[in-house]
Amino acid sequence: MESHKEVIKRLQVAFRSGVTVPLQFRLTQLEALLSLLEDNETQILETLRKDLAKPKFEAVLSEIDIVANELRYTICNLQDWMQPSYVGKNLATKLDDCFVRREPLGVVLIIGAWNYPLQLILAPLIGAIAAGNCAILKPSEISQATESLLSDLIPKYLSQECFAVIRGGAEDTKLLLQNRFDHIFYTGSKVVARSIMQAAAVHLTPVTLELGGKCPCVIYGELDVKAAAKRLVWAKFFNAGQSCVAPDYILCTTEMRDMLIPAITEALEGFYGPHVQQSPDYGRIVTDRHWNRLTELLEKSKGKVVVGGDCSREEKFIAPTVVVDLQESDALMEEEIFGPILPIITVESLEQGISFINQREKPLALYVFSDNSQVVTTVLERTSSGGFCSNDGIVHMTLPGLPFGGVGESGMGCYHGRWSFETFSHRRACMLRTWKLERISALRYPPYGETNLGWLRWATTAKKKSWGVCSVM
Ligand code: NAD
Repeated sequence: MESHKEVIKRLQVAFRSGVTVPLQFRLTQLEALLSLLEDNETQILETLRKDLAKPKFEAVLSEIDIVANELRYTICNLQDWMQPSYVGKNLATKLDDCFVRREPLGVVLIIGAWNYPLQLILAPLIGAIAAGNCAILKPSEISQATESLLSDLIPKYLSQECFAVIRGGAEDTKLLLQNRFDHIFYTGSKVVARSIMQAAAVHLTPVTLELGGKCPCVIYGELDVKAAAKRLVWAKFFNAGQSCVAPDYILCTTEMRDMLIPAITEALEGFYGPHVQQSPDYGRIVTDRHWNRLTELLEKSKGKVVVGGDCSREEKFIAPTVVVDLQESDALMEEEIFGPILPIITVESLEQGISFINQREKPLALYVFSDNSQVVTTVLERTSSGGFCSNDGIVHMTLPGLPFGGVGESGMGCYHGRWSFETFSHRRACMLRTWKLERISALRYPPYGETNLGWLRWATTAKKKSWGVCSVM
């Protein structure tokens, strides 16, 4: 078996040969990735069922179609994205060609998490290919079946010279990270992200960190509570709550809480029937270790379980659970829940809710449910988060036009659609100068004098609406 160093070397040689640069190569690889998804849909669905008991419906939407749509969108737009962008000029550079050229970075490393094990490897890979890079993929070892499927399928569909899958857990990844990459794209927890950054710092490697955190959901003012409960329940309990953008907790008034609980119960029954454990539409917790963490959180919580609460170790099942009457210091409020437990924190006013959010780390997503657009705007303008969605959850991340990523502790950098292409590109500043306008050019040469300085300042000062833009030097 090839060592890490040998794999990286092989990809570096391929990258330096320039094979990944032409548009046609990039398109062929992207189309091959689309065929991988189309040819192996049944096997992918079985694999995701093994890892997370993912219902077919959820797997198709959140693992297959989301990646296939990213692929189609990228294939359609790539030629445009690869064009240089011309920038505004001043009088001194008026006849020069001044543009930004997107260039590939080299050999990039993509490390994925287990909750959407296919999507979190393939979606960034689309950006890496589109931008003309070689890539090493390191899927999560926790979602073992998908890890194995990816290492089997990727070499069958993509160029083996340019793309490779490396398997392994924390220790193997630490060894892998001792090598130099041209970019590291990491999805996972904040704790591990710190060691990724430390390893990257040794080689001054840039990183994109797609992390998590506690995503608040404010429900405030007039609204159709039953409709809100349906959207909320869907977003929270999709993938058994194991989504980085799942609403982590609700902030609402006591009156709203009392209306929400029966509406949530009704929505759950409507979705999963009277016995959730028997529903084919509800997933499972990924491993015993993760199941233990979640059930321990529930045990430690001083809150009152008002919906659900049933757990089964054998099946790694935890029922959709709602907890109320908890303090800010409760175990459920200490860390990202990342499972099907939904605490409701009551506040007296919208102001108090906003201040609750702003006292904590900036979340990956922030949700507001309200019919009152003033409420939505107020929360939007007075808070910060990676993404924002009103009157729904999760769906904002399905549009390739919107950047997906965190801010502060929820991550750095972003991807999806054109943003992925930009993430994996170097924006090279290019100025192709002409020998014309030499009299203006020569103003800068010594011997220096006040007159020349005056003319030069005039020729290079940013001028409003000059040459179509406000240009600066
Ligand atoms: P994790 O950090 O345990 O693992 C992620 C990856 O890191 C895996 O491939 C794993 O092998 C590797 N890894 C683990 N320990 C390592 C170490 N010490 N050194 C180097 N590599 C190591 O994360 P997880 O449990 O797989 O994912 C859960 C977290 O990820 C949650 O916080 C969730 O919110 C976040 N997440 C974020 C997004 C996003 O797009 N922003 C998506 C999914 C999950």
